[in-house]
Amino acid sequence: MKREEMVARVKARTTPWDMAVIGGGATGAGVAVDAASRGHHVLLVEREDFGKGTSSRSTKLVHGGVRYLEQGNVSLVMEALKERGLLRQNAPHLVHDLPFVVPNYSWWEAPFYGIGLKVYDLLAGKFGFGKSRILSREETLELLPTIRQDGLLGGVVYHDGQFDDTRLLTHLIATAVDHGATVLNYAGAVELVKGADDCLKGLVVEDRESGERFNIAAQVVVNATGIFADEVRRLAQPDVQKLLSPSQGIHLVFESSFLRGGTAILVPHTSDGRVMFAIPWHEHTVVGTTDTPIENPSYEPRALEEEIELVLESAGRYLSRPPKREDILSVFVGIRPLVKSGGHSKTSSLSRDHTIHIDDSGLLTIVGGKWTTYRHMAEDCVNHAITLGDLKDAPCVTFDLHVHGYHEHPEALGPLAVYGSDAGKIQALADADPKLAQRLHPDLPYIAAEVVWAAREEMARTVDDVLARRTRALFLNAKAAISMAPEVARILALELNKNDAWAQQQVESFSSLAAQYVATPTLTNAI
Ligand SMILES: Cc1cc2nc3c(=O)[nH]c(=O)nc-3n(C[C@H](O)[C@H](O)[C@H](O)COP(=O)(O)OP(=O)(O)OC[C@H]3O[C@@H](n4cnc5c(N)ncnc54)[C@H](O)[C@@H]3O)c2cc1C
Repeated sequence: MKREEMVARVKARTTPWDMAVIGGGATGAGVAVDAASRGHHVLLVEREDFGKGTSSRSTKLVHGGVRYLEQGNVSLVMEALKERGLLRQNAPHLVHDLPFVVPNYSWWEAPFYGIGLKVYDLLAGKFGFGKSRILSREETLELLPTIRQDGLLGGVVYHDGQFDDTRLLTHLIATAVDHGATVLNYAGAVELVKGADDCLKGLVVEDRESGERFNIAAQVVVNATGIFADEVRRLAQPDVQKLLSPSQGIHLVFESSFLRGGTAILVPHTSDGRVMFAIPWHEHTVVGTTDTPIENPSYEPRALEEEIELVLESAGRYLSRPPKREDILSVFVGIRPLVKSGGHSKTSSLSRDHTIHIDDSGLLTIVGGKWTTYRHMAEDCVNHAITLGDLKDAPCVTFDLHVHGYHEHPEALGPLAVYGSDAGKIQALADADPKLAQRLHPDLPYIAAEVVWAAREEMARTVDDVLARRTRALFLNAKAAISMAPEVARILALELNKNDAWAQQQVESFSSLAAQYVATPTLTNAI
């Protein structure tokens, strides 16, 4: 994927696109893959970098949602469990099985969660990942050696999926391109253009690198902008009623010693009624999350002091070594694009199902849902778009479509396994130049060749793109990421043909952004 080539394609287009997709998160990327693989001419534009919004900030689970089962939402859970199975089948390099244990400290928990998780297994049917089982105290300690032992009676083990959200996103964007789509990051939709009949005919896109504006004609315009969906709807119709009720969730990241053994913890009800996950991820421990209603969407939401305290407190109740504030390596915050429904005061009770909404102008908005169900959401959206735009009625083919980089035995690919079949090309860069084989930081696995690859093949344009989304350095260890920034800027400047002043400015702006991911008193006072 080369950005210059994408810009050239946009400029060269003389006929309307079948579909213009606004938004390069999980939803927009999924729609672009679905539509392009059906043979439609697709343009996807993203105002920032792919995944800069919510899609880089998830809990990293490909799951049916045990909590939604408790809420009685059986159809949502079944749908998500099916999608979980399809995703592992189509992207085995990016999705893997993760055992979870629900630890039991009261007599009723083993039968209660044991039965609930058997139902979860049953609903997965042929898409199941592994059978759930009630565990003795000894078996629980074997799987979770760092769980609090005081009062522990046993546990229930079950299986779900885990992934790296922006790695999957990058590979979905690449899949769309493999099927003919044109994709452009740092290109925002700034106007929606209507014809004499008051219906949408296209949009104006601003290239944020050159400042140039492009008039884009399209049969259908899809609004897949997540938490920004109402803002985009207002471009066509300033007085539209809001669809969204956003809620933020935070995660704290610690070193791996807090959760040894490769098994995750699920606490279905913390003292304040939340779900708590503690998950092993990329040799670290991720703990979350919260559910705090917020007023306005933003790209870099801040963790509230009470959210940090809540997560530390609930982790401390279940881990034998309670993590302290100084143990936090990174704090990351995401905003859920939840769809409003009348009468609910708590966002945790709002539906995680997706919504398709068509405004009077013909703007098709798809919002809500979750990462796990992106494929199903895309299928539904493109089916609607075909009718709306009178497009060629081709059937959806993503049920068994391999995601870019598909590899049946990723475990054979070593530390670059998440790149799937691209791993060999990155290794070849490192083999050809020993400097590129060097790690960028002793505490993280990333090598310089990955920066070169990100710039040449994955449309990375900034230090933030590389450290936050092509690699996950910022999310794993913010201070380490800050110290990697100068070398990443130097390599990027060479690759993108930029000068020293550009590199210096990149380091400065990344360092000030990354400071927000470090849980220092500055962060706590910022709220
Ligand atoms: C804390 C948290 C934990 C979660 N955990 C999980 C989980 O474990 N598993 C799971 O399945 N789901 C999870 N989810 C849900 C999942 O992350 C989201 O449903 C999903 O990422 C939403 O993707 P999206 O593409 O709709 O939105 P986004 O990722 O926000 O993408 C929208 C994009 O639109 C772009 N955009 C906005 N305006 C414009 C414009 N004018 N022009 C061009 N582009 C524009 C934005 O820059 C953004 O990149 C979690 C969510 C949160 C908040």
